Amino acid sequence: MKFSDLGLSDELSCVVADLGYKSPTPIQEKSIPIVLMGRDILGSAQTGTGKTASFTLPMIDILASGRAKARLPRSLILAPTRELAAQVAESFESFSSYHKLSMALLIGGVSFSDQNAALSKGVDVLIATPGRLLDHFERGKVLLNDVKILVIDEADRMLDMGFIPDVERISGLLPRMRQTLFFSATLSDDIQKLGSKFVMNPKIVEVAPPATTADTVAQHLVWTDLKSKRKVLRDILRHESVKNAVVFCNRKRDISILVKSLTNHGFSASALHGDMTQSARLKALQRFKDGEVPLMIASDVAARGLDIAGLSHVFNFDVPNHAEDYVHRIGRTGRAGKSGRAFTIAASKDDHKYVGFIETLIGKPIPLVKIIDGRVIDADASANVKTTVDESAKGAAKGSKLVGRGRIPAIEKSADDKLTELDNTKSITETSKPAAKIKNHNRDDELPSPPDCSGNTLAETGHVPAFLSR
Ligand code: AMP
Repeated sequence: MKFSDLGLSDELSCVVADLGYKSPTPIQEKSIPIVLMGRDILGSAQTGTGKTASFTLPMIDILASGRAKARLPRSLILAPTRELAAQVAESFESFSSYHKLSMALLIGGVSFSDQNAALSKGVDVLIATPGRLLDHFERGKVLLNDVKILVIDEADRMLDMGFIPDVERISGLLPRMRQTLFFSATLSDDIQKLGSKFVMNPKIVEVAPPATTADTVAQHLVWTDLKSKRKVLRDILRHESVKNAVVFCNRKRDISILVKSLTNHGFSASALHGDMTQSARLKALQRFKDGEVPLMIASDVAARGLDIAGLSHVFNFDVPNHAEDYVHRIGRTGRAGKSGRAFTIAASKDDHKYVGFIETLIGKPIPLVKIIDGRVIDADASANVKTTVDESAKGAAKGSKLVGRGRIPAIEKSADDKLTELDNTKSITETSKPAAKIKNHNRDDELPSPPDCSGNTLAETGHVPAFLSR
């Protein structure tokens, strides 16, 4: 199928050709004709599938006729985070290069006055995060009774972040007769129920089964212990051809620890998380996009939906607690047909459970690997390692065929000689102390270890991953 078959104007066919898009993606093929017909949509599409163009392109054609009045936007796109909203605005700008449409971006962390000035001129497309939009509304700077098209993007994220009451309030300020496009990464029963509050007689558009991971991303799971996580990460970073990578942490405080640690070890890394000021976030993102800083250590909130061209790697420095976050995180790489690699570093007892949740959600095990001298070795295929059914994961993934895949490798008793061989590799498994004695160091409930900025190697700290001491 070609873009010209979807009913878009010639101008937009030229725009997409200029951007190098050869053919529409499945979500674009399905959504664009429906949007052009004026129908509502309940759509499930992950980021990276071309979802943004699936609603912005037809919106541009719909809005091409007509003019905006001061403070009365003609369409509204709601996104959960500043970054996502900014990204939609960026896409809108590049798609509307042949049109004279005006746009305003209302996000927190930047001055109200510029946003005000844009609103007072009249905007065809208003792109906003819910909180900032309501701030402007309450100050009387924007009226929503002329909005003809509402897009709710990343609705599942809105739900997670507690934004739904704001979205409901905004929706109540809009005319009832409007077109609503509701997109979510997944269309679970809860999300469909939520979506039905906003849409009327919608077309359901689903392009991928819920929470599938792209085939273009090679996934790897590495088990280690809490103290060795940073070393494991550095080992992989040194030996993989990492062009640029996002490293996800679960907690903001761990982000700064990891940035410091990596910097001390000679890597160039910067942080991106929700507590940074908007200008610091945009600056960090720009430097990362420009390739000045190849490693971005990020939280889920900051990095969800980020579109970084040609990202080679994603690292889960922490196993995400919500399985869907795994899909979003690794979806930053392997985009637009390119291949990418994702590594998940698991270490704590709880990680057994969380890996189990993820494997249940994605419907397959994450291939287990060992890192030996920085090389990635397929652990499932290696002779000295077998997988065990882990009881906690079993409980977690109840009812799943993948029960127990949240697993750690166990060393077979007969493989003592292989163990010695592993020790000799001076890899992350390196130790000179008896495993039994060291086991105490590997309590799963221990607090995060301080940054290993001392320059000590793991051989010097002398501990051993939990699975080797079993
Ligand atoms: P999105 O899912 O909207 O975040 O888009 C992901 C990436 O795919 C962006 O870099 C888009 O520029 C790109 N993209 C969107 N549609 C197409 C297309 N039809 N062909 C090639 N790339 C596309």
